[in-house]
Amino acid sequence: MDKISVWKDVDNRKKILKFAEGYIAFLNKNKTEREIVKSSIEMLSKDKGFLVKNIKNKALVAAKPSKDILDKGMRIIASHIDSPRIDLKPTPLYEKQDLVLLKTHYYGSIRKYQWLSIPLAIHGVVVTEAGKVKEIVIGEDDKDPVFTIPDLLPHLSKKQDEKKIKEFAEGEELNVLFGSIPKADEKEDPALKNILDLLKGKYGILEEDLISAELELVPSWKARSIGLDESLIGAYAHDDRVCAYASLKAILSVEKFQKVPAIILFDKEEIGSEGNTGARSEIVSDFIMDVLKSVDVVPAYRNIRRVIEKSSVISADVNVGIHPTYPEVLDEYNAAKIGSGLVLTKYTGVKGKAGSSDASAEFVAELRSIYNKAGVRWQIGELGKVDLGGGGTVAKFLAQLGFQVIDSGPPVLAMHSPFEIVSKGDLFHTYRGYKAFLEA
Ligand code: MN
Ligand code: MN
Repeated sequence: MDKISVWKDVDNRKKILKFAEGYIAFLNKNKTEREIVKSSIEMLSKDKGFLVKNIKNKALVAAKPSKDILDKGMRIIASHIDSPRIDLKPTPLYEKQDLVLLKTHYYGSIRKYQWLSIPLAIHGVVVTEAGKVKEIVIGEDDKDPVFTIPDLLPHLSKKQDEKKIKEFAEGEELNVLFGSIPKADEKEDPALKNILDLLKGKYGILEEDLISAELELVPSWKARSIGLDESLIGAYAHDDRVCAYASLKAILSVEKFQKVPAIILFDKEEIGSEGNTGARSEIVSDFIMDVLKSVDVVPAYRNIRRVIEKSSVISADVNVGIHPTYPEVLDEYNAAKIGSGLVLTKYTGVKGKAGSSDASAEFVAELRSIYNKAGVRWQIGELGKVDLGGGGTVAKFLAQLGFQVIDSGPPVLAMHSPFEIVSKGDLFHTYRGYKAFLEA
């Protein structure tokens, strides 16, 4: 099975580069799950045919309801919009050596050393005792300050350098620099007191308000084209905004369809799909109930089950692309190449496919046929060599409900790093593949 570069379709090159511009703008506007939900609602509200459900501002479901849903079912593309990042602890502020710092608790799986000594922005909400929600974004505008977790200097890191990477930069060491000017005439923690004054004066935030907050530190840099030929995109959190964006663009461009087209943007995938905004919750069944009601079908349990039985899902998540410097972590015959198109992943999992829903051969054939008919460039991919590691997606949680599910998304380099890489060509074919699936 040859993997052929999507760039060989010379006629598509301009379209590919053009499509990427919209994605780069989307990346720069939306770095957190809350921001993506807000933008997605704006995008979807331009078409009155959508039923959109906002799940606690952190997840979203949308569909184009149609009366024959009971006979035909749905086609759903499910991605996730949470990404690895560094969250603030409930009591984050402290002062040491005349510097003010923030205690953090990282979210998702990260190689912690990658997050040292890079510029970080703060995004999120602070909710006051009275219930007022204050939206915070600091570090995105060029005039804003940024924040950082300072690393140790190489001159004095001899002892630290001997540590295993896993133990290097431990969780409790990811402390963020937040200020240093002392408040005049204060003896105890004067710089911290000055910061508290700033928080109160500028944002109306009290120290206790930080307890009821969700503040996330993410890289402050913008998404950029990579390479002299500008064929790739480097950005924070392609995983999984690349699939979320492709699914949004796909459902917005659907012209005619057989089955009810739908997308889901889940939260909490990176920490196991937990919580009332994650894929283990009842979001999907509840939404099917809403769709049934909207077309005057009785939203009874048996009808929900019937819809699920007739429906299929693309678990839209990124896969790994072969790294030219570290090809040994993948089986080259079954791994995806950057720039060879949308990846079809029959199973994920670790150690003997554990934790994978393993799509049925029949459904793989169906999707293969849909992609081929639409001229989508696609390739097979696995999540690493057998027994080396692995991972999972939301696929298994939807499969448990009874859906046909398969994983399909673009390959990524440097996944979960603060600067992940995708090919513009793979992004384009991901969009085209998702559109073909929704229309089939
Ligand atoms: Mn993912
Ligand atoms: Mn991930």
